[in-house]
Amino acid sequence: MNCIDTYKHKGLRQQMVDKLRAKGISDESVLQAMNEVPRHFFLDSALDSLAYEDQALKIGCEQTISHPSTVAMQSQLLSVKPSMKVLEIGTGSGYQTAILCRLGAKVFTIERQKGLYDQTSKLLRELGYRAQCFLGDGYQGLTGSYDRIIVTCGAPEIPDALMRQLKTGGIMVIPLGDGEQEMLRITKNGERHEEWQIEKFGTYSFVPMLNGKAMK
Ligand code: SAH
Repeated sequence: MNCIDTYKHKGLRQQMVDKLRAKGISDESVLQAMNEVPRHFFLDSALDSLAYEDQALKIGCEQTISHPSTVAMQSQLLSVKPSMKVLEIGTGSGYQTAILCRLGAKVFTIERQKGLYDQTSKLLRELGYRAQCFLGDGYQGLTGSYDRIIVTCGAPEIPDALMRQLKTGGIMVIPLGDGEQEMLRITKNGERHEEWQIEKFGTYSFVPMLNGKAMK
């Protein structure tokens, strides 16, 4: 990891944010967070020159960091306010986690791959992000109740446990589907399915949300 933030990085980051704005991201708090968090800190230094391109990049364990435009879109849909409890499924590189922390959320994040969990929980701590990291299966979620839930891997179905852990009035952003996914924003207006408002926000391609397989 290269944890030096040069003027060049800052300049490239500003250009990335300008492009996100041009693509329709309008939430100023999201744009500001993305301008402040150095994405290259979350990547192998060999990928430094690509860190501010709109690309998904390899992070090890056959996983990828999401495109900056996807992180921006999911963060905007989540509409996080300071002090909210946010549960993230799929810590991965920790970049999305860091953005949520910058937005002022109390972040709880779950990763199922031990290699990534070990590496990313250490990095987030060293960089001063106060997320609570857990090794586990995101289908089960985490004991507690959350104002917001963000899933950053492609889910074949909406996990029941996560809907239970979402507070009434809360929002879940989840890419749903096998292969390709449709980005959903689910607003839980009540306990019953009929009370969930489900909105769709285009097609994406995430690594799969894996279930019941041994962790390496
Ligand atoms: N937010 C991350 C995205 C990483 S890719 C980033 O921007 O870097 C998605 C991550 O979800 C991968 O690290 C993968 O290992 C993890 N994942 C897949 N299935 C999971 C599950 N059931 N529970 C928790 N994490 C899971």
